[in-house]
Amino acid sequence: ALQTTANIWHNGQLIPWDKAQIHVMSHVIHYGSSVFEGIRCYSQPNGAGVFRLPEHMARLIDSAKIYRMPLPYTVDQLCSAVVDVIEANGVAPCYIRPIAFRGYGEVGVNPLKSPIEVYIANFPWGKYVPGNDGADVCVSSWSRLAPNTMPSLAKAGANYMNSQLIRMEAEINGYSEGIALDVNGYLSEGSGENLFIVRGGVLYTTPLANSVLNGITRSSVITLAKQLGIEVVEQALPRELLYICDEAFFTGTAAEVTHLRSVDRILVGDGTMGPITTALHDEFFNIVNGLKPDRHNWLTPVNVK
Ligand code: PMP
Repeated sequence: ALQTTANIWHNGQLIPWDKAQIHVMSHVIHYGSSVFEGIRCYSQPNGAGVFRLPEHMARLIDSAKIYRMPLPYTVDQLCSAVVDVIEANGVAPCYIRPIAFRGYGEVGVNPLKSPIEVYIANFPWGKYVPGNDGADVCVSSWSRLAPNTMPSLAKAGANYMNSQLIRMEAEINGYSEGIALDVNGYLSEGSGENLFIVRGGVLYTTPLANSVLNGITRSSVITLAKQLGIEVVEQALPRELLYICDEAFFTGTAAEVTHLRSVDRILVGDGTMGPITTALHDEFFNIVNGLKPDRHNWLTPVNVK
């Protein structure tokens, strides 16, 4: 069950968790008109810090812009709001969920007459894709969103109806996650994770044109890989590469860096976390856990006792 906190930020003010309620006739309930973010705050030996907070808030504003939802806040204001709510709640490490949506106004599909509401909640949250020994995943029978239907670069609530189909199918068939192909049959992403594949020492990931979210962990891992001298290639990837690769892993705020043990019951390599995944996994966790200097300024400090 979700662990609650004292406060939720709403349109510029902190309100009690139980008061953060909306009317059933709100536009978002009927038509999925929301955009949101998922952000992690990590603990370091000397405090706590939010991972790539401005990048997440810039993506929220981008998602809103795609859906013609002008948010009345700047990136800086939204970042301050996150720091405020974390500090008021005194909960770190934590997961942070900012959401903007079309509220209570009109009942018709046209969203333009409904007010825009912005909320930010934070709460404790652990590992997302189960299995420290790696995830056993499948290729989904569902495709990811086709271009020119639902824009994949927007992190919109309605996109997660597709994610839910992928995730439920995986779970019911005994897998911990599903990887969806795009409409052309190339690899896309997991229901809530970007996908990386290692073969012959090269790190491959699907380009933004293949119906994926512009993942912030994805971009962080690409940066770290280049610094470690690993060649990174973004290109359309065929499904069968998953069966013959040396290593594969997911990235995401929730999933962090999670290696894939098997795909469709075919072992990835020997099933253990391979050397390139391990190097990137360790580099990522050393930075967010404060065991290595935050050389990219990826952490925004929060003051939580
Ligand atoms: N793809 C999808 C569909 C997602 O929901 C997420 C999680 N936000 C990701 C990829 C990973 O993105 P990020 O690293 O920014 O969390």
